[in-house]
Amino acid sequence: MEALRPFYSSYFSVALSPSGSAVRRRDAVLAEAGFPIHRHGNYECLRPMGCVLKKNKKRRSLLFKETDDPGNVEVYIPSAADDAGTATETFTTIELDEKESSEDKKLHTIVQRIIIFVTSEAAPYSKTGGLADVCGSLPIALAVRGHRVMVVSPRYLNGVSDKKYAASFDTGVRIKVPCFGDQPEVGFFHEYRAGVDWVFVDHPSYHRPGNPYGDENGAFGDNQFRFTILCHAACEAPLVLPLGGYTYGQNCFFLVNDWHAGLVPLLLAAKYRPHGVYKDARSILVIHNLAHQGVEPAATYHKLGLPPDWYGAVEWVFPTWARTHALDKGETVNILKGAIVTVDRIVTVSQGYAWEITTGEGGCGLQDLLSNRKSVLNGITNGIDIDEWDPTSDKHIPFHYSIDNLSGKAKCKAALQKELCFAIRSECPVIGFIGRLDYQKGTDLIMMAIPELLQHDIQFVMLGSGDRQTENWMRSTESNYKEKFRGWVGFNIPVSHRITAGCDMLLMPSRFEPCGLNQLYAMRYATVPVVHKTGGLRDTVENFDPFAENGNGRGTGWAFSPLTKESMLTALRLAITTFRKHKASWEGLMKRGMSRDSTWDNAALKYEQVFEWALMDPPYVK
Ligand code: ADP
Repeated sequence: MEALRPFYSSYFSVALSPSGSAVRRRDAVLAEAGFPIHRHGNYECLRPMGCVLKKNKKRRSLLFKETDDPGNVEVYIPSAADDAGTATETFTTIELDEKESSEDKKLHTIVQRIIIFVTSEAAPYSKTGGLADVCGSLPIALAVRGHRVMVVSPRYLNGVSDKKYAASFDTGVRIKVPCFGDQPEVGFFHEYRAGVDWVFVDHPSYHRPGNPYGDENGAFGDNQFRFTILCHAACEAPLVLPLGGYTYGQNCFFLVNDWHAGLVPLLLAAKYRPHGVYKDARSILVIHNLAHQGVEPAATYHKLGLPPDWYGAVEWVFPTWARTHALDKGETVNILKGAIVTVDRIVTVSQGYAWEITTGEGGCGLQDLLSNRKSVLNGITNGIDIDEWDPTSDKHIPFHYSIDNLSGKAKCKAALQKELCFAIRSECPVIGFIGRLDYQKGTDLIMMAIPELLQHDIQFVMLGSGDRQTENWMRSTESNYKEKFRGWVGFNIPVSHRITAGCDMLLMPSRFEPCGLNQLYAMRYATVPVVHKTGGLRDTVENFDPFAENGNGRGTGWAFSPLTKESMLTALRLAITTFRKHKASWEGLMKRGMSRDSTWDNAALKYEQVFEWALMDPPYVK
């Protein structure tokens, strides 16, 4: 086997696969052949070329097809079962499959970049919301396109989901990060999976019960410390971690996600560049939710590990009306603000939200600063992990279905009704809600509307956790409306899949929604979204028009506005009537939703464009 290794290594060093499944196939093939699965990025992609891997089951041999510039095709047939260690290489010329070759062209990567995601959560390791989904799948989409990608996030051990980190190993690298008047030591764990280096920063402050940010008593009091060390560690990771034998180096892009990673651009500008490090690196702030900004008293500034003269970058003074008492001067440090004024570019997770955050209504106080940086602000709508959320193969749902055969959806609905102890009635619309129980998600509107809504012949299921009052309301409403309402308090991924598949409609009355993922999952599962017309919901859910397209209908759901109980109920009533009385229209809604392209491919292309734009200018803070 050893003798084959160099051959495989060099081969894969130039291999670009056209899709996530191709990468997984490649990894599976390598595993079957007895090779350790290493990233091709270790060897640097020297020249981008469309490269398709095929496993010829019939011949029990592995075929690798590669096109060079003049269009010649070489097929390598190494004998996978060659235990004696003699490699068999065969060079032939074959016709390229037309379909595959055009697909390859579409997804061709022009320049490989070195990309470091810094995030407080990444699925499947840690998750409280959409940030985790994005940081769990966008890195893979970029790696598939040939980039070398590292994701840096904390190694949370809470005693419940620790096994998610089981495949990661201790790199043995320890560094001391200068902050909080001390030199706390952090370690790095590493897992190479799906073409991405998943790096987990290890520190005792990440080892405690609860979710990444808090427990039943609220947010952890030392979150500023926990995410300060994350940012310091993330800046060091590309310099000190020899992943697969090579460090990532300084010429990289930092994709910093929300306030938890917001110190990174400040550290690049204030700590590294003055010493000639990261001179050519760029940073891109991805705003998933502007409402959380990492605000702490001004007196904590000296703990951040920034030079004293950089205070102005994070300084944030609340207006008088927002102060708590007469002696409160409103002086704080605001990490997200610091990132906004130092980062090279800003991306929000939908175009609608990119505009909203520059307005007084959506800017959460930062609208003027964001407006000033409009020229580097873009919106890129999130994609979804179409393997994780696939109704034809989802491991969490009892029956599978596709756009060509929706019978499994009806069975999923019946199974959900059974699970929830509702009457099993196909003609009764089941409406779902999944999400954090938070003012942002408009749960107060649902609470107001439920008495009127439940006068209709419907079944309603809510899955969520968060606000205590709302959780208690869900429990009491369930006991008041046993036939019609179920409240599932908790965070449960399999249940969220079963609700998405089993419901007819998904309600999302979010006050604001940077992108929203549940409506994308819903559409893929033929569940019709009824949403407040805001942010990413406005961008992704097209309002139903039964008369368009010569009466065939257009649209994928209902987007209501303004955000009132009345307009939400009107949209829901329209949806219920369409479900009951206009079967053909309903089927059209389901199928148009299912055929919507929500893959990461488009978004990954747009991120690449942002990388190019970032390089057109010198670093914003030199
Ligand atoms: P946000 O990031 O604001 O919470 P998104 O719609 O972008 O909202 O993403 C929410 C993600 O979290 C989705 O993947 C959703 O399915 C998941 N989620 C939210 N609440 C729950 C829950 N109680 N149980 C399981 N998954 C949940």
